[in-house]
Amino acid sequence: MVEVIRGHAAGGYSSVLPPEISKPVLDAMGRVPRHEFVPRRRAASAYEDRPLPIGYGQTISQPYIVALMTDLLAVKAGDKVLEIGTGSGYQAAVLADLGVEIYSIEIIPALGKAAAGRLERLGYDTAVTRVGDGYFGWPEAAPFDGIVVTAAASYVPPPLVQQLKPGGRMVIPVGRPFMMQQLVLVTKDAGGKPRTRVLLPVAFVPLTGGH
Ligand code: SAM
Repeated sequence: MVEVIRGHAAGGYSSVLPPEISKPVLDAMGRVPRHEFVPRRRAASAYEDRPLPIGYGQTISQPYIVALMTDLLAVKAGDKVLEIGTGSGYQAAVLADLGVEIYSIEIIPALGKAAAGRLERLGYDTAVTRVGDGYFGWPEAAPFDGIVVTAAASYVPPPLVQQLKPGGRMVIPVGRPFMMQQLVLVTKDAGGKPRTRVLLPVAFVPLTGGH
């Protein structure tokens, strides 16, 4: 699995993209048992570099995209990261493996509950989950060093920008549902001013909810 996620597709994309995924992220990807995060009947495909269905019309993201989004967050141990879209809990586990304190929100109660149980069973103690609409973030736990949104929004939710620390990084797919979107990196400078950079085309399930 590590080999297929090592390099990037050639040419044309933002220079913000790292030339390759960093070793700590690759190591974390190598340690987290992806087969534990997919339905049992999908276990044989767990280490293929593609998204897989996890029920309720949702997916566990492609390993390369998980690695890239994790790398773009540029986290260090002890950082506090907010994830919108817990899904299977896999992305949260990769971040927890890197020593991150991870707060993850899922809007589908059955998925959120299953992911919480899975993360606890596998010992990812620094992952905290809740069920709700992630559009509004997790104000009581804010501010965050990083925010990763794993469902496509039509615009960057202002509450999430607000909950990002100065110096923090947010990675989010932005665009129309059920079409290609753009992976966007939002950084906040020391003065709190956000800057948005478009990185590469991606395809995510939509951010839902009543917001
Ligand atoms: N990060 C997940 C993983 O590692 O398995 C994959 C997430 S899947 C691509 C996107 C998830 O976002 C789905 O589980 C979906 O239910 C959830 N979602 C969609 N809209 C949401 C919202 N407003 N708040 C929280 N979660 C949401």
